[in-house]
Amino acid sequence: MVMEERRRMVVGLRGRGLSLSEEVESALLKVPRHLFLPEDVRSCAYRDAPLPIGDGQTVSAPHMVAIMAEALELREGHKVLEIGAGSGYNAAIMAELVGPGGRVITMERHGSLAKRAARVLLERGYSNVQVVVGDGSLGYPEEAPYDRISVTCGAPGVPGPLAEQLGEGGVMVIPVGGLEHQSLLRVRKVGGRTATEDLGSVIFVPLIGERGHRSKQ
Ligand code: SAM
Repeated sequence: MVMEERRRMVVGLRGRGLSLSEEVESALLKVPRHLFLPEDVRSCAYRDAPLPIGDGQTVSAPHMVAIMAEALELREGHKVLEIGAGSGYNAAIMAELVGPGGRVITMERHGSLAKRAARVLLERGYSNVQVVVGDGSLGYPEEAPYDRISVTCGAPGVPGPLAEQLGEGGVMVIPVGGLEHQSLLRVRKVGGRTATEDLGSVIFVPLIGERGHRSKQ
């Protein structure tokens, strides 16, 4: 039944014109999105919609997860840094794409979300994912450089530490703009320099931190 719902979700994404690689499609079919969500929203897990996950945060809609996974050009063996672990769902999708020889390090500023994401990831056997509590606007220099960096919250600009921690030939996907909406940017590092493409308009919750937006509290 749940597998059928995931199939319908993928058919729906294709029906809306999203071009999905075989790899991304099979990750979307494999990862049980409902298990990463709080019980009260599980019945909506396979709708193409962002959903609340607690602490005022949301898991991105499946189409956005797919768009970011495609834009990142993830390959087996990549070491990935994600900023904004949230529910852990996107980390699981990326863990499928980089395989057991790759790694995903995902940072989350809310300890409660990080704890729940880490538990579900462990229960689902994602031993190639590590959840780190901290300010992702500063990156995670301990494990740099990264082949890929995925930022799943909106930043006022590309944080310098993230650009520095991106390895040569690396790709970062990051929403950049104001609090209301952002542009999804793909940043490539070639010859020590970064080149940026605008992939379109998006809406993400803010990156709050030293090199992000200021917290309201
Ligand atoms: N990738 C997540 C998932 O699959 O559920 C969804 C991420 S949600 C759209 C954005 C997340 O970024 C929130 O959980 C938020 O707490 C987190 N966040 C915001 N600023 C952050 C920061 N400086 N460091 C780490 N996480 C941050």
